[in-house]
Amino acid sequence: MSKQTYLELHNIHQMFGTHQALKDVSLNVDEGEFVCFLGPSGCGKTSLLRIIAGLDTPTSGAILQAEKNITHSPISQRDFGIVFQSYALFPNLSVADNIAYGLVSKKFSANDRRARVTELLATVGMSGSEAKYPAQLSGGQQQRVALARALATSPGLLLLDEPLSALDARVRAHLRQEIKQLQEKLGVTTIMVTHDQEEALTMADKIVVMNQGVIEQIGSPQDVYAHPQSPFVAEFVGEMNFLSAKVSGTGQMQSGGLTLRCDQSSHLMFGDAAQLAIRPEDVRFHIAGEKDNLLNAKVLHLEFLGSRVRSLLHLENHERPILADISMNEMSRLNLSQGQTITCQLPHDRLHVFGGAA
Ligand code: ATP
Repeated sequence: MSKQTYLELHNIHQMFGTHQALKDVSLNVDEGEFVCFLGPSGCGKTSLLRIIAGLDTPTSGAILQAEKNITHSPISQRDFGIVFQSYALFPNLSVADNIAYGLVSKKFSANDRRARVTELLATVGMSGSEAKYPAQLSGGQQQRVALARALATSPGLLLLDEPLSALDARVRAHLRQEIKQLQEKLGVTTIMVTHDQEEALTMADKIVVMNQGVIEQIGSPQDVYAHPQSPFVAEFVGEMNFLSAKVSGTGQMQSGGLTLRCDQSSHLMFGDAAQLAIRPEDVRFHIAGEKDNLLNAKVLHLEFLGSRVRSLLHLENHERPILADISMNEMSRLNLSQGQTITCQLPHDRLHVFGGAA
């Protein structure tokens, strides 16, 4: 069953003076979907979230929520809850009063407010904290309260502006899981801004990769990781090695004087400059019986990462070294050491091909 579109962004442009922060951004968010805006600092993700929240008005373009044009609706008439990076709780209000803040204007009775606060505190795993004050809570607990506050009025849309980035790594990983589970349970349509690719990959149903005010790619985490449509996405989501190349035939590239087969070059013409790209985990070493895309490589460095070993390889005839990940099983079979020369393979079905020189 296909999902209903809940939020539509149509051709959003945002100018700040002469600076164009958003260029022709269009996007649909489905009901109940968890969408991440992912990109480096300054790419425009917060500007886009602020427009959706009504904190800013776009220079041009339109936003529809549940089929209603809200582009110029005041915040008070919008249906969303928001959590910011810095906890933004009222320091002089108790946890209960912070959470109940938005319920007062919605005309909840005192009894209903109390019941709703109890329910929300249970939902975010903080039962019994009604009387505490923000200063008595850890960062992670404050973000749970902020989340409870954002959910208090059961909004149709939950907006999360880097909600985890001020927390330490362990709390962040834990809360990441909890927010995801809670979002799935409640089914609330959610948009989260993050510059952290791991956060986006683990939490999102749909990732919107942004760069310099434009959307570079929209897709599921699996899709964006496995099929990046530009070198920017390839490098920003996960890790990627790049080799300069030139198209030398159908499904064939010249790189460092070697001929490499690749499956993805059909959009390019003979003689075109290209970049070949491969993820560290796709470089192979166990290559008995293989003939294609074999290269001699010198092991420059080995780094033990617990479940795998990361190697830095100097490929024959190539200037830029590449990273290759080796499982511990393979590592014990290969018995690799620094300075050794080995044969590796860049499998043709694992090579990504992008037009243009590096
Ligand atoms: P970060 O992760 O650092 O918050 P971001 O991707 O969220 O980055 P935005 O905050 O949306 O980026 O900013 C996009 C661009 O617009 C940046 O170049 C920023 O300097 C600029 N910008 C944002 N808000 C304003 C403003 N109110 N006035 C002028 N320029 C702004």
